[in-house]
Amino acid sequence: MSDTVLREQICNLAKSMFDRGLTGGSTGNISARTSEGGLLVSPTGTSFGRLDPARLSHFDTHGKLVGGDPPTKEMPLHSAFYESRSTAGAVVHLHSCHSVALSMMPDVDPDNFLPPLTPYAIMKLGKVRLLPFFLPGDPAMGDAVRGLAGKRSAVMLANHGPVVAGKDVEAACNAIEELEGTARLALLTRGMNARILTDDQVRDVVERFDVEWDD
Ligand code: ZN
Repeated sequence: MSDTVLREQICNLAKSMFDRGLTGGSTGNISARTSEGGLLVSPTGTSFGRLDPARLSHFDTHGKLVGGDPPTKEMPLHSAFYESRSTAGAVVHLHSCHSVALSMMPDVDPDNFLPPLTPYAIMKLGKVRLLPFFLPGDPAMGDAVRGLAGKRSAVMLANHGPVVAGKDVEAACNAIEELEGTARLALLTRGMNARILTDDQVRDVVERFDVEWDD
């Protein structure tokens, strides 16, 4: 994919998420690998609803900013995924309402943040790790992601928002939307004794679709 097309795709997908209320104001950030091995990143202080393809932060293969505006303050999160997951072609972070609400619930399993409600969340996200609360922009967030050694494609920052890596921008956006949708289902069905997937059903999904699912 050419850089021009990639720039358009980043801005279009970000706007689509903004328009549907998945992240508001100037929250959320997104990055993607270019065909030359550099990175395009949403600039600091920008809104997902109004990203300018020409002003995305552009890093070369050595991590040097070679064009566009300065990148998001949450760049350490993005770098940590690219450094620890060779398959990462894009990373997206949202301040999405339902997943943040779920992160505040006392009985959530930090190793497997989302309850097994639907097969697609398992297929697209694997197990989502709930990370503790960090101050925004704290490099320790990046260290925490690196500490997962590339075993997780999706993490949830407590009281803040999800971060998801994918093979490309579309895959990363689809996966983070699945995360938010599943968190919403979890809140909607909370305390209602809903029939969640059984351990055997989860195992079948993991095996059939070759999901990364470390035990
Ligand atoms: Zn954030």
